[in-house]
Amino acid sequence: MPRETPQQNTPQSMARRIRQGLLWVGLLSVLLTALGAGALFYRAFSLRAETALADIARAAAARYDGSADSLRDVLLPGGMRLTLIGGDGAVLLDSAPDEARPRENHADRPEVLAALQNGVGTATRRSATVGVETHYYALRLPDGCVLRAAQDTAALWTAYNRMLPLLAAGCAAVAALAAVLAWFFARRLVAPVTALAGHLDTIEADVPYTELVPLARTIQSDRRLRAENEQIRREFTANVSHELKTPLTSISGYAELLETGMARPEDVPAFGRRIHREAQRMIRLVSDILQLSELDSLRDKPERAPEMAPLDLAELARDTVAAMTVNARKAYVTLSATALPAPVTGSRDLLAELLQNLCDNAIRYNRPGGHVLLYTGTAEGRAFLRVEDNGIGIPPEAQDRVFERFYRVDKSRSKATGGTGLGLAIVKHIALLHGADITLTSAPGAGTAVQVTFPKAPA
Ligand code: ADP
Repeated sequence: MPRETPQQNTPQSMARRIRQGLLWVGLLSVLLTALGAGALFYRAFSLRAETALADIARAAAARYDGSADSLRDVLLPGGMRLTLIGGDGAVLLDSAPDEARPRENHADRPEVLAALQNGVGTATRRSATVGVETHYYALRLPDGCVLRAAQDTAALWTAYNRMLPLLAAGCAAVAALAAVLAWFFARRLVAPVTALAGHLDTIEADVPYTELVPLARTIQSDRRLRAENEQIRREFTANVSHELKTPLTSISGYAELLETGMARPEDVPAFGRRIHREAQRMIRLVSDILQLSELDSLRDKPERAPEMAPLDLAELARDTVAAMTVNARKAYVTLSATALPAPVTGSRDLLAELLQNLCDNAIRYNRPGGHVLLYTGTAEGRAFLRVEDNGIGIPPEAQDRVFERFYRVDKSRSKATGGTGLGLAIVKHIALLHGADITLTSAPGAGTAVQVTFPKAPA
């Protein structure tokens, strides 16, 4: 039978996904750390540079005696520059003169302006000519001149740049470590999941992650159900084969006697009757099996469900009594119905079959002179039907099992009266299909009552 195949998607490697995710996190962390370290480094050095500039400027100012010469031999750390600027902006001294613009007027420099105004001025700017960033610290001297110390950030960065290969190597090492750890963790995370496939029957007992519990539960109950179904199917096949073999063996035996002429002429009609009876039994059995398998298949294929229509159980009960009176009379049993209206929605054929099976049992497991009563009606808004007899009854320990396939309390009695062992299994199936409940009450020697109660009709 063609099955709808769900859309397939190629599974991805879980370990790889985890590994990649972890690796990305690792790399991103390393990158952010490196950037953060750079920013901190820069800030710390800038601060230090500013203090250093202020210290030098103050030391130089202390030496200043009003002449530019007094500043000539101030010791400057590498990369630092000292400039003396007159109150008018003229450069009076420059420890590292700017060759491109020697002695340019400095009155417009922000740090100089600020120093002239407030005594102290700082600035950081990119020099248009040299293209590097420079920190400035300017100090107003008592005579109105301005002393300015300056340092290129390039000088700051050289220290950092010297550390750069080390930093890069550190980052690479951390990244490599992240890759190894990611590989290791991914393996450790995935291994228990892979191992699950090895013990699917007890999967729920050792699920490694809580997220997998629902999946494990489904798998385990699915497998249990499947094993049970398989068991039922196997038993059913064995039972069916056995049930069919017995009548076939006797048919074959009698037919052989007839064929070889070993039967005496006066026995021929009796043998013929037996062959007929056994064949009838087989037909009943096969048709019961067919009916059961059809009911079974309804469970998986709701679209094949029989037509459900409103009907009155009372009418069905009266029809059943009419159809079975002859059978009852043959068994010296009286059959009657107290049929009050009992409207249900259901399959007429299946419910007729259900009633017939129950009546048939009530007649067959009865005694001469016994009676069978059919009741229909409603109780608490629910329609019901009940078949009561005062026959042989069912022992308490068997009452639960009589609905199983091929279960019989007394096998020879069942067979002698044409039973297949499937009647009540069919009844149970039909009731289930209608959402109805079955209750069986019985006492050995006193009789049996089977009641089928239907669900409340929707308002
Ligand atoms: P069978 O074809 O053997 O009657 P059923 O499935 O109809 O199979 O019933 C299973 C068994 O339940 C019967 O073999 C019989 O032992 C018992 N049983 C069913 N109905 C009655 C009843 N009304 N009174 C006593 N025993 C019953």
